[in-house]
Amino acid sequence: MIEDNLLEQNKQEQDFQFCSLGSGSKGNGTLIRAGKTLLLVDCGFSLKETTKRLLSKGVDPEQLSTILVTHEHSDHIKGVASLSNKFDIPVCTSRGTSLNKHCEKISDDRLNIFNNHTEFVIGEISVLPVPVPHDCREASQFIFSNSGVSLGILTDVGHITPHIRRAYSGCSAMMLEFNYDYQMLMQGKYPRALKQRVAGDLGHLSNEQAVDFLINLESKKPNQLVVMHRSEENNSEEIINGLLKEKFDYTASNFLFANQLDGFDWQIVC
Ligand SMILES: [Zn+2]
Ligand SMILES: [Zn+2]
Repeated sequence: MIEDNLLEQNKQEQDFQFCSLGSGSKGNGTLIRAGKTLLLVDCGFSLKETTKRLLSKGVDPEQLSTILVTHEHSDHIKGVASLSNKFDIPVCTSRGTSLNKHCEKISDDRLNIFNNHTEFVIGEISVLPVPVPHDCREASQFIFSNSGVSLGILTDVGHITPHIRRAYSGCSAMMLEFNYDYQMLMQGKYPRALKQRVAGDLGHLSNEQAVDFLINLESKKPNQLVVMHRSEENNSEEIINGLLKEKFDYTASNFLFANQLDGFDWQIVC
């Protein structure tokens, strides 16, 4: 029995896995794990809330290898400095993101700057940053690789550039923003300026833009898809379900929704 448990534990440590602590405009955090390497992408929650959410996924904050930050908006960066300082965790950002005032709270020896076009390695995971158009300084999204398979995260992106399309082609698994339904946004109660910001070229991806992106990948569709960063005001699961069924024949076993409240549970990249 003990051997069985050890075998199971070893197997889990070898798998390339991901899960989310929460996804949406009220806070984001995504975990990527391969072997003993455990990355947290963004931290938009308080220290107490982050610790609680990590524990709910079976993770002790001290296990984190690095915190990667996609961009300077508070739903992604708010909790980074306190988590890094409390548990002595290195932080990696683009130069542009590092210019945000929040990063002044991170001690210099923990703050690392990556080139937004150059792949780098953290432990057992390769990280390819992808520059994306969003209304902030030098936003990045990431493609992670381990043992020949890759996993992409793509949220907070105003529109799809040719570089994004090329970079994400070939990902086995994809965490992709489906922020809003255009009709719901335009008919909803957001002020005009905010509607324009969200729908603009430096805002967020609509359901239609996300589906178009999947259709136009230079490779087959990903095996696994997670719907990320959904607006609670301007979107609905039914609409997204309908679009994905109609265009891709995705079934419940290969796509799921990330929630604001508890993200989603550990998935193995396959
Ligand atoms: Zn965001
Ligand atoms: Zn953002």
